Amino acid sequence: MLCRQDDPAALARRNAGTSAAEIAAAALTHFNKDQRFAVTTDQVDLATPHPEIALYDALTAAFQIACRQRLGFAAARRGGIVGFCLHAEKMTEEFAALYVVPTPLGNMADLTRRAEEVLRTVRWVAAEDTRHSGPLLKQLGSQAKTLPAHQHNEHEAAARIVERLQAGESVALISDAGTPGISDPGARVVAAVRAAGCKVVPLPGPCAATTALSGSGLLDEHFLFYGFLPSKGGQRRHVLEELREHPYALVFYEAPHRVLETVADLATVLGDRTLVIGRELTKMFESIHSCPLGEALEWMKGDPNRQRGEFVLMVSGAPVDADDGEGERVLKLLLAEGLPVKQSAKLASAITGAAKNALYERALALKAE
Ligand code: SAM
Repeated sequence: MLCRQDDPAALARRNAGTSAAEIAAAALTHFNKDQRFAVTTDQVDLATPHPEIALYDALTAAFQIACRQRLGFAAARRGGIVGFCLHAEKMTEEFAALYVVPTPLGNMADLTRRAEEVLRTVRWVAAEDTRHSGPLLKQLGSQAKTLPAHQHNEHEAAARIVERLQAGESVALISDAGTPGISDPGARVVAAVRAAGCKVVPLPGPCAATTALSGSGLLDEHFLFYGFLPSKGGQRRHVLEELREHPYALVFYEAPHRVLETVADLATVLGDRTLVIGRELTKMFESIHSCPLGEALEWMKGDPNRQRGEFVLMVSGAPVDADDGEGERVLKLLLAEGLPVKQSAKLASAITGAAKNALYERALALKAE
């Protein structure tokens, strides 16, 4: 049914008599995203190589099918992998999906090939700000219709998107920059689509948090992504108090007009730890600076440019108590008595004053030994 074959006519002969549905299903399950095949209807004479031969990779073909575009290409060859799909429109509903598509943080070259293909071929793009995303879609030559999906209309947008998917039309979900649903609208739409039993396909791609972390040089094995802290000082410090003993690196997003007060609060509440400031990542004035938290405010005030742009603030995890021998001794006793990990950590912390989160991590490790 599918074969490595460079001769379209021979391939057509090989496929003659095979059921269209079988061929279509096999093509899409057996081909990976980088392989290609042609989609055609049964009105085409498959034995005649056609001048308009066009190749589609599996993903694009799925979209084309989803868009009910009957393609009349005769045959295909490239890379030695060729297949045919007859009666492609039958597969419409199976392949309609919500594609969650990350877009660049600043550098347009960071749009992945897959993201580009999705945005170019879907029928609909649900965008946080349709005006903002217009130029990107235009640049890609996307014919997609746009619909707004922002934090103030997510429920309504979700309902519209589910409707489109149920009609067999694929939708790409994008935010202004980075990954939808990460400190951006998108989660409600995804939840509604999944609840309706429709397919969700998340694409990997740009995200400020992971980009910043990968360039931070922080040695913490784990990190906690918090996103934006509360804008009011009291609430912000309260959240930071709660995070103070957390042994993981902490990752925050911050806007330029609040970055100085947030850095001041980080220093006051979290104490003597390393801060890494990722600013304007992937853009012309990208900078990554690390320093002791206590010196950060002065460094930022030293040059107004250091307060401009978009920020990811990363703080190394709470130091594990140097004098944790007593905590660990009590912890081991409690675990040996058969108490659950969480309760053992809580009690050992209450008895010895050692950090609860660190004891919890230690208890998990002891259990795994
Ligand atoms: N969804 C996005 C993501 O995947 O990273 C985040 C959107 S959130 C509304 C915007 C925040 O992300 C900014 O305030 C900033 O903290 C961070 N951010 C976005 N782009 C950035 C960049 N180029 N450099 C540093 N931080 C950035």
